Amino acid sequence: MALAKGESSWATDETRIFRKMVRQFIERELAPNHDRWAEQGHADAAAWTKAGTVGLLLPDVPEEYGGGGGTFAHEAVVVEELACAGMHIGFNIQSIVAHYILACGSEEQRRRWLPQMARGELIGAIGMTEPDSGSDLQAIKTRARREGDHYMIDGSKTFISNGSNAGLVCLAVRTDPDAVGPKALSLLVLETKNLAGYRVGRSLEKIGRHAQNTCEMFFDGVRVPVGNLLGPGEGRGLFQMMDQLRYERLSIGLSAVAAAERAVEITTRYVKERKAFGKPLLDLQNTRFKLAECKTEARIGRVFVDNCIQQFIAGRLDAVTAAMAKYWLTDTQFRIIDECVQLHGGYGYMQEYEIARMWADSRVQRIYAGSNEIMKEVVGRSL
Ligand SMILES: Cc1cc2nc3c(=O)[nH]c(=O)nc-3n(C[C@H](O)[C@H](O)[C@H](O)COP(=O)(O)OP(=O)(O)OC[C@H]3O[C@@H](n4cnc5c(N)ncnc54)[C@H](O)[C@@H]3O)c2cc1C
Repeated sequence: MALAKGESSWATDETRIFRKMVRQFIERELAPNHDRWAEQGHADAAAWTKAGTVGLLLPDVPEEYGGGGGTFAHEAVVVEELACAGMHIGFNIQSIVAHYILACGSEEQRRRWLPQMARGELIGAIGMTEPDSGSDLQAIKTRARREGDHYMIDGSKTFISNGSNAGLVCLAVRTDPDAVGPKALSLLVLETKNLAGYRVGRSLEKIGRHAQNTCEMFFDGVRVPVGNLLGPGEGRGLFQMMDQLRYERLSIGLSAVAAAERAVEITTRYVKERKAFGKPLLDLQNTRFKLAECKTEARIGRVFVDNCIQQFIAGRLDAVTAAMAKYWLTDTQFRIIDECVQLHGGYGYMQEYEIARMWADSRVQRIYAGSNEIMKEVVGRSL
């Protein structure tokens, strides 16, 4: 079938059918529970397993590992639909962790963890950031000492999404205390159930995304089998992260475009209905010009991100372009949503209005997964 007006270049009949199912699932199973989850700070375990049953989790992981067997186009559908619905409940992290295992794990590791993750029985988290090292990943202190056929882990992490309910943590650790530079770090997978010495700390109070938990984690003599190391040997962690962060940054860029499009859509509707000085706000030239700018920027973002998605599916999206997408699209998202808040007037500041929640939810996009300043460093190094 030909592309419909405004449809992404990567859409196929299969992704259209998938989108319909994903949207229905979000409307029926997720959205009605969102406020309750925001209060409790995380989605119910049952939401994860239900999402797993219908194929919402790991749609772009091969079927032999329990995934949907699709491409990033299928993941893109889920990312867009969740972003449009304002559902930030950690499903994106599940895909990110799964792709670390898929790309860096052994056959045995993939078969052990991915099917459980696809079913939503095992929730994943990625633990890089520490209290004293966020942007500077090479300063990670959490230490993994080899003792026979185990690693002994000591240290702490912070700001970890899905931290409170994670059954599996992909953890960045320092395996070589003497190495300077990138070869000091490795990635270890922790199965957290009944894991002695592992403790989840506070669920941190955020200004948005209340239905997704963000936690501290502590490791005090945690023993992990050597077989849980990702990759063929120690010292590859930083390279693995740099490679896999392309996936995460593309997903974030895409969610930014989807949210920006949604903001323009709901604000256009609002300014047609809301009257000032006896006529709809849309009749004011400033309103039309501001929304024209927002719509134009969202469209530019869409063209760029669709191109990135096609490049990614073809195996050609480089780290620099992924960094460009992450920084420019999330900056643009925030600019657009902030303008849309302005066009809503006082109602735009009220929690009960979708645009207000979108504003609070969008702010972090410029900070995590490598802040936008770090993204400019990545791009800058390519000059
Ligand atoms: C809601 C939320 C969820 C998160 N989820 C996760 C997660 O699941 N897993 C995980 O590991 N981490 C997670 N993070 C952490 C996030 O990735 C870090 O906050 C981010 O990388 C920035 O690190 P930092 O907070 O230590 O800031 P810093 O590194 O202290 O940076 C502070 C400021 O200095 C700027 N800066 C730093 N270095 C440079 C430089 N070289 N040039 C220019 N400017 C610079 C930064 O851009 C920033 O503006 C999450 C954070 C939040 C808020």
